[in-house]
Amino acid sequence: MTKWNNSDIYRIARERMVETQIKARGIKDSRVINAMLKVPRHLFVDEALQEQAYGDYPLPIGEGQTISQPYIVALMTEALELKGTERVLEIGTGSGYQTAILAELALWVYTIERFYKLSKRAQKILLEVLGYKNISFKVGDGSLGWKEAAPFDAIIITAATPEIPKPLIDQLAEGGRIVAPVGSEYSQTLIKGIKKGGKLYTTPIEEVRFVKLVGAYGFKE
Ligand code: SAM
Repeated sequence: MTKWNNSDIYRIARERMVETQIKARGIKDSRVINAMLKVPRHLFVDEALQEQAYGDYPLPIGEGQTISQPYIVALMTEALELKGTERVLEIGTGSGYQTAILAELALWVYTIERFYKLSKRAQKILLEVLGYKNISFKVGDGSLGWKEAAPFDAIIITAATPEIPKPLIDQLAEGGRIVAPVGSEYSQTLIKGIKKGGKLYTTPIEEVRFVKLVGAYGFKE
């Protein structure tokens, strides 16, 4: 008789998640699909929530914040068009799950989180448990960007913002892509921007709902 262990069960849950939530909704980039098949999402949530980690919804991660729904992670990542050579800036480390997906697909990930506790927990999983070697962490207001590490080939904001923060547009490389939920505190449109000739050209992707970006260029607490 076959013996199932936890890692088999979570691998099967991941395969089902990719088939029913990711591929079925039109995500095509095979690199994104492979990363979603590989990264153990259940390690990024509390033990009590691990069985729900592959469900089609966000989950709480503490500090009033959430790990995004798997499909939204895939959609935003695909829009960044990563080939493996990019330096990526992520605003809102949160659980670190999106960070892991980016670390699978890009050369280097710079990630900023405003809550020290969340950043520390993400660092523990990403560096100590999973052994990623291409991630730099910072605690602070990500709406100001990471000037010393700029320019970035891709920027992802994983929290709702009233507009794309100007420092982030300045820190985006020519030809670079930025993806962000832009709108009010209660509803936003996922926007993809491409920088050409120093200007950002944006197109809407779909309606979304994120927790808010709190900072100088975001919302007030
Ligand atoms: N990508 C994350 C994941 O996979 O778990 C989900 C991020 S959660 C939806 C948004 C995160 O942005 C929260 O952890 C929140 O604390 C953080 N955040 C909000 N405003 C921020 C800011 N100005 N700078 C950095 N992080 C911020």
